[in-house]
Amino acid sequence: MFDFTIVGGGPAGTSAAITSRVAGVNVLLLERGIIPRHKVCGEFLSAESLGLLYTLLSSEHKPLLKEAIRIAQTRIFLDGQTINTPVHPEAVSIARLDLDAALWASAQECGVNARQRVTVHNISGSGPFRIHTSDGDFESRAVVNASGRWSNLTADTSLSNGSAERWLGIKGHFSEPAPERSVDLYFFEGGYCGVQPVNLRRPGTEENRINACAMVKADVASTLMEVLNCHPQLKERSQNWRPLSNPISTSPLLFRIPMPDRGGILMAGDAAAFVDPFVGDGISLALRSGALAAQCLIPFFRKDISLQDAALAYRRIYQERLAHVFNASNMIRRALKLPRAIRRPMIYFVRTIPSLPKYLVKRTRGFAELDSLENSPNWNENPARGTREGMGVGFDQDSAND
Ligand SMILES: Cc1cc2nc3c(=O)[nH]c(=O)nc-3n(C[C@H](O)[C@H](O)[C@H](O)COP(=O)(O)OP(=O)(O)OC[C@H]3O[C@@H](n4cnc5c(N)ncnc54)[C@H](O)[C@@H]3O)c2cc1C
Repeated sequence: MFDFTIVGGGPAGTSAAITSRVAGVNVLLLERGIIPRHKVCGEFLSAESLGLLYTLLSSEHKPLLKEAIRIAQTRIFLDGQTINTPVHPEAVSIARLDLDAALWASAQECGVNARQRVTVHNISGSGPFRIHTSDGDFESRAVVNASGRWSNLTADTSLSNGSAERWLGIKGHFSEPAPERSVDLYFFEGGYCGVQPVNLRRPGTEENRINACAMVKADVASTLMEVLNCHPQLKERSQNWRPLSNPISTSPLLFRIPMPDRGGILMAGDAAAFVDPFVGDGISLALRSGALAAQCLIPFFRKDISLQDAALAYRRIYQERLAHVFNASNMIRRALKLPRAIRRPMIYFVRTIPSLPKYLVKRTRGFAELDSLENSPNWNENPARGTREGMGVGFDQDSAND
């Protein structure tokens, strides 16, 4: 019998695990795959959650933030025009191999019972719960489902939006001479591709690494090479790229309204809702919602409130602080789908009023005191640089595909 079981070892699950373990809760964290592995992700981490990330990481892993490449601007290439917006406070670029590994190790270091290669098949009961897994059954007073946007535990909810369009996510790392500290978004009919510099914290990895990550309709492109040819400026830019990883893909990508709890189980990260990747806020939402879910459950573990009240508190706080991000990103996605003849003057309008892109970016961020690196106490301490060895990295097909 555990107090708390968390399904999924990504940013949402590890954030919930560390937050509750630090408060003295007996936590079981179950991950069906191997951590770390490459995941389909643009690897852009917005400033709003960097302070939270700093507090979640153990002291050995805090240098991850200091060593990360800072992203100071966004360039959007759309309909032959370019919109430049400073990213302020600066965001960072962190490879998922490094981020997921650091969070997982930090969870273990603070005493979370973290187990890889354990698949949760289903969960029965309404509190306490019975967790049926590939490694036997467990009992738990509370459960957070942080199993991502498309797992055996979330697929039925995702399908309910009835969308006929099939979208893919595709990612690869390449070498590019002297990449700028910019996140560049190339939009074309039926998708877009983000490009930004990224580094890997391990010996022998190349300098000048970039991440190219696309969200594209399945009938427009099915490989990263096809994506790179979908936009003239991207095509030109990628001529001299050298692949540093095997491309990986994931499907389907479905959007639905957020569902913060279900049958007494709290949902965190993509399991609660998947935000359109172009806003670059999915990891932040995962970290924040995981921590919030744990915080709402702590009074329940102390027997101060019921599980229903904890779930209600989480639903409320999710609506207050995070739900508007989905509304804003849905609105922008709808605008991008408008016919080109309407879109072009809109883009011109956005370009001529520099405060407008900044406002739109702000609307796609969770309501939180801006938890940037600069505002986060002590993030700058421990200047140790250098690399860690023996991370057991494997290039793997993203788990959402299997
Ligand atoms: C194309 C694309 C680009 C993106 N770009 C960005 C970006 O630049 N910036 C950003 O912030 N976000 C981006 N995102 C979104 C971001 O990747 C997600 O929001 C983030 O990974 C969510 O974290 P999570 O912990 O909720 O889920 P995940 O990271 O998916 O973790 C869920 C974990 O649960 C495990 N799991 C699943 N089922 C089970 C089970 N039954 N039992 C046990 N374990 C299970 C999985 O193996 C997985 O490791 C992008 C997404 C896509 C698709």
